[in-house]
Amino acid sequence: MNFNKNFNDIADSYLFAEVANRVAAYTKANPDKKIIKLGIGDVTLPLVPEVIKAMHGAVDDMANQETFKGYGPYEGYGFLRENIQSYYKESGVELGLDEIFVSDGAKSDLGNILDIFSKDNTVLVPDPVYPVYVDTNLMAGRSVIFADATEENGFLPMPDYSVDADIIYICSPNNPTGAAYTKAQLKEWVDYANKKNAVILYDAAYECFVSDESLARSIFEVEGAKTCAIEFCSFSKIAGFTGTRCGYTVVPKALEKDGFNANKAWLRRQSTKFNGVPYIVQKGAAAVFTAKGMKEIKKNLAYYMNNAKLIADCMDSLGIWYTGGKNSPYIWLKCPNGMGSWEFFDYLLNNAQVVGTPGAGFGKCGEGYFRLTAFGSKEGTKEAVQRIKKLLK
Ligand code: PLP
Repeated sequence: MNFNKNFNDIADSYLFAEVANRVAAYTKANPDKKIIKLGIGDVTLPLVPEVIKAMHGAVDDMANQETFKGYGPYEGYGFLRENIQSYYKESGVELGLDEIFVSDGAKSDLGNILDIFSKDNTVLVPDPVYPVYVDTNLMAGRSVIFADATEENGFLPMPDYSVDADIIYICSPNNPTGAAYTKAQLKEWVDYANKKNAVILYDAAYECFVSDESLARSIFEVEGAKTCAIEFCSFSKIAGFTGTRCGYTVVPKALEKDGFNANKAWLRRQSTKFNGVPYIVQKGAAAVFTAKGMKEIKKNLAYYMNNAKLIADCMDSLGIWYTGGKNSPYIWLKCPNGMGSWEFFDYLLNNAQVVGTPGAGFGKCGEGYFRLTAFGSKEGTKEAVQRIKKLLK
């Protein structure tokens, strides 16, 4: 027996553990100080009433012989996929029901999708980025190259035709940088991918925060994307499902090469390795797209975006360079006075008792940058902003 030695090449995921260690040490030494955490990428508001009502109804369904559900369809119940289809239609995107696959979240599918690609693909990942893309490929033994996101390109790297990539990851609005591609910029990536016979794995987990018309919620708003892209989305951020678990993946039927059809392969993969998302969860997810559900959800999203504005306004008033905060719950700021990411983390913790996430933990280009999130409470965010202003003005 041999283990998969590729695991030896993956760096320990020490970022959030190290943040927790430093916060714990500070709290132990300063038990009377009140710490405000703006480092988390998790949501804090509870599920909205319409979702809860739908889930209660689904629990009752499970208690009755006539409405009880056993195994569901591998690709998700029709009632949920129809709602997702209508949601895309609002952005002008027409999808076939059989192009939509319900899952237990974007993270699983982002990893699982690699089953349908051969090992010898070259993978292009932006730096800095959500660590899952790199680690899942390293586990499979693929070589990963990076597209540097920097202040100069607004943390939105563009295609370089001298680079031959086969699998390209794009996350927009981005975690951790909050930067979001315009439709015109995405069109350049789509053209590149089609030209190079590459696939774009598009992570749209934060699409619900997009409000500018020039930005895309889905890569399929861009012409030509159906022959080169797979999109991953989630109920985690739009509806607070981080602990409830539901997402969906769009695999267009037009994505094929040499007689190999990605949609067909993904269905084959899912029906072999996945037995679907709980009926109760899918009922809750379907309620997100009802008029009443969406109204409640928009209120929650506005709450987070108000927090984002408080932080962004604070950075504006201090003259600190940042991305995000407008179409994203993340504010990615340049550490003041040339400080390194961890140096600024300690400075902020020790002098303002505010916790953020050091950018260096998301890739080499993240060094010197820092992520604050809008997922905290309104009161906490207000107080944190006041403390930051006082410290840095
Ligand atoms: N993609 C990005 C960019 C994320 O930041 C996250 C979670 O923070 C996910 C995917 C995971 O989504 P899910 O909860 O649906 O697995």
